[in-house]
Amino acid sequence: MAQLSDDCFAFGGPLMAVDEAVRLIAERVTRVADIETVPLASADGRILAGDLTAPLPLPPFTNSAVDGYAVASRDLPREVARSFPLAGRVQAGAAAQAAQAGHAVRIFTGAPMPEGTDTVFMQEDVSIDEAGRVVLPAGLKPGANVRPAGEDIPQGSVALQAGQRLRPQDVALAAAFGLTELNVVRRLRVAVFSTGDEVASPGTPRRAAQLFDSNRFMLLSMLKRLGCEVSDLGILRDDRAALARGLKQVASAHDLILTTGGVSTGEEDHVKAAVESVGKLVLWRMAIKPGRPVAMGIIDGTPLIGLPGNPVASFVTFVHVVRPTVLALSGANPAPLIPMPVRAAFSYKKKTGRREYVRVFLHRREDGTLEAQKFPREGAGLLSSLVETDGLAELAEGVTNVEPGDSIGFLFYASLL
Ligand code: AMP
Ligand code: MG
Repeated sequence: MAQLSDDCFAFGGPLMAVDEAVRLIAERVTRVADIETVPLASADGRILAGDLTAPLPLPPFTNSAVDGYAVASRDLPREVARSFPLAGRVQAGAAAQAAQAGHAVRIFTGAPMPEGTDTVFMQEDVSIDEAGRVVLPAGLKPGANVRPAGEDIPQGSVALQAGQRLRPQDVALAAAFGLTELNVVRRLRVAVFSTGDEVASPGTPRRAAQLFDSNRFMLLSMLKRLGCEVSDLGILRDDRAALARGLKQVASAHDLILTTGGVSTGEEDHVKAAVESVGKLVLWRMAIKPGRPVAMGIIDGTPLIGLPGNPVASFVTFVHVVRPTVLALSGANPAPLIPMPVRAAFSYKKKTGRREYVRVFLHRREDGTLEAQKFPREGAGLLSSLVETDGLAELAEGVTNVEPGDSIGFLFYASLL
């Protein structure tokens, strides 16, 4: 378990910028040290524990990139086509053989280059004359259509860096080296609680003034997408002692505790007091909308993040606070989110000094450019606004006004996790 000091989330300013939060987290969170070995087929999404150095060059031997005819570059016809007698045939998987001087060798994609040849004519570019010789046109460059050993990755170079969150193409690279398993950081164990007397768990009776708990299932799903092992710990009542007991109980067995609800400053927001009674807590007043204060705490060395209860605020603050924390705890590269420029199809006014995320639909216009249309309503409680839209438009701190036609940044939901 990575133990954090009680004051690691302390912050001096009144309002915390989103980038500041991400930077603070990256600086102050220590990664878990436990490493495990997983077979390649289970490595997708895991965090590589150490640099992977190429044990062989890729490709491992020089081979032909096409089906055609291999020759020595010194024999290449320069001005006019020339015919070559054929000698030998080498297909993919066959042992390399030496070529006869002045001859062309029939060769296929992936086959090793015959000794003495270094250039391949594509079969589409040649003809065979009556004598059965191959007629090679002039003008081909020496070395054409050949894949030299190590051109992709030289032996001994760092092919994947520690902290890489493994994608299918990364797993492919490890397989290309002949590896069967990889060392990865063990999955983070994350405890998730909802809080609130008005929240009922799906599958249990709902009183008239209750709503079913949606956030917990959203957060559990988001955490799983980030590769975490999750403990679903249900709902804690709006009661300081019960909250404190619940949180304290799970701290030592988890790398991170996540709660939703109860972190505003109302009288019935008990998470703050509960954490203070068993650990240390600071409220981060973040310069972000939607999103209210986010609670950052430490209980027995385990970090706690208290997200707001409104589903959209919970979603957006997850992306900017929980995601970087999970990445930092698991030693993953920070992977900053990169919005892509699209055209705004709406007007919007905002205050400076805070970053806003607008739920938008993405459309392709007739001229092929992409346009973001705002979801018609703004409430932070509207789950439909997250369900129906394609992603978030990011309006930077300095922006006060968006007009149709302005270029704005867009993040697909799929790119956030
Ligand atoms: P709170 O942050 O506790 O003040 O809650 C803000 C709003 O979010 C209230 O309307 C809550 O009913 C709602 N809310 C809190 N927790 C959840 C939850 N787990 N699922 C859905 N809505 C919630
Ligand atoms: Mg509440």
